Amino acid sequence: MPWLLPRLVALVLGTWAGMVLGAAAGEWIGKPTLGMVVGAGAAVVAMAVLDALRARRLIEWLRRSSYGAPPVEDGLWSELTYRAERQLRLRERALEQEQERLAQFLQAMDASPNGVLLLDADGQIDWGNAVAADHFGIDPVRDRGQRLTNLVRTPAFVDYLQQEGNPAQPVVVPSPLGRQTLSVLVRRYGDKGLTLVISQDVTQRERHDAMRRDFVANVSHEMRTPLTVLSGFIETLSVLPLTEVERRRVLKLMGQQTTRMQALLTDLLALAQLEGSPRPPADQWTAVEPLMKQVRADGEALSAGRHDLHFHLEEGGDIAGSASELLSAVGNLVGNAVRYTPDGGRIDVSWRIRPDGAGEIDVVDTGVGIEREHLPRLTERFYRVDSSRSRDTGGTGLGLSIVKHVIQRHGGEIEIDSQPGKGSRFRLVLPASRVRVRRETPVLLASDATR
Ligand code: ADP
Repeated sequence: MPWLLPRLVALVLGTWAGMVLGAAAGEWIGKPTLGMVVGAGAAVVAMAVLDALRARRLIEWLRRSSYGAPPVEDGLWSELTYRAERQLRLRERALEQEQERLAQFLQAMDASPNGVLLLDADGQIDWGNAVAADHFGIDPVRDRGQRLTNLVRTPAFVDYLQQEGNPAQPVVVPSPLGRQTLSVLVRRYGDKGLTLVISQDVTQRERHDAMRRDFVANVSHEMRTPLTVLSGFIETLSVLPLTEVERRRVLKLMGQQTTRMQALLTDLLALAQLEGSPRPPADQWTAVEPLMKQVRADGEALSAGRHDLHFHLEEGGDIAGSASELLSAVGNLVGNAVRYTPDGGRIDVSWRIRPDGAGEIDVVDTGVGIEREHLPRLTERFYRVDSSRSRDTGGTGLGLSIVKHVIQRHGGEIEIDSQPGKGSRFRLVLPASRVRVRRETPVLLASDATR
């Protein structure tokens, strides 16, 4: 205690000085002893007052919310001030560190792709991240202290939240604003009955699940018909004695059903391959002209002279992407044009590069056309406007969804325009980044007819 000796010395010296001064003053009135006592007392009182003033300065400094520089003292008071300040600074540091940790922790929760809500024992919102705010349509700051069940009233959600303990499974509910489907999991934590609510947007997953279910149902349905027909014929063949003509007719019908199943499987495999493979490279160029020649040959074979086919290339060009995928997309469109255009109808297939550099492949027919209300759903799997016509002409209901997949994988889009009874136009638009102009004039020239 280095302050103790100076403090005692100051006390003794102060008292002594008071005694000496008091004795000197007492000489005057002839009472030196009394003067000495009064002087010593006055010295002690003066020192006590000084101490009180210093103590007040220290207390005032401690009382202030922002501790600035501490009062300058010496001796005992300097030691006291120093100790107090040190403790304060240590506390301040510890608090700052804790606040920083808390802020980092909250930032981490905010960065979570899942919604996180903390509820108190009464189910009132204590804290929530931005994702939770979006999921539940709440404002974590404004709605702090509100009961979550007052803001989100979906009965399934309210029941789930009010369950005792930790439910084993999350509940899947529509979000209050109805835009998403949420999977919500509740966890109780701590010993004060606090609740952690974790929400996840499962809209896409639910949609995919529904699509998968529909898809399986559709495929089963598509397979069932030809299989039923085939098994019926097999039974007929094995039970009934048929004439040669009848036998040939049955075999022909069986052949048709087999072809139908093969076409379905081919399209299903094509779709699976499109979904499972990476996007076609953007630096692998496919020349448009040979592609169109191939499409033309296939179209002519399918039409077998029943239609008036025209191919028109404004200028040569290359498309960055997969030749086989592009061939299948354009081939499907031309195939549809042939199948949905009555004999004698006209089909025009053209390629052009727009001024903005994008490429356009148009397949225009004068066929049966499509009612406007069907257009948005046309590229869905197994969507058919006229099922019997589609099946009679060998359609699987998957052609346009393959086309859409292919064009989207090439960064482009499909546009459909049609008028019932007049005809349809299917347009594939490829982005400029995947199109390159070829300077030499294509051999397949404007109004180059099939013959
Ligand atoms: P499908 O194998 O049945 O032809 P698609 O996916 O190719 O299946 O086409 C979906 C539906 O769109 C067809 O069933 C048909 O009703 C309609 N469609 C497609 N192309 C044409 C077209 N060029 N003219 C009229 N209708 C068409």
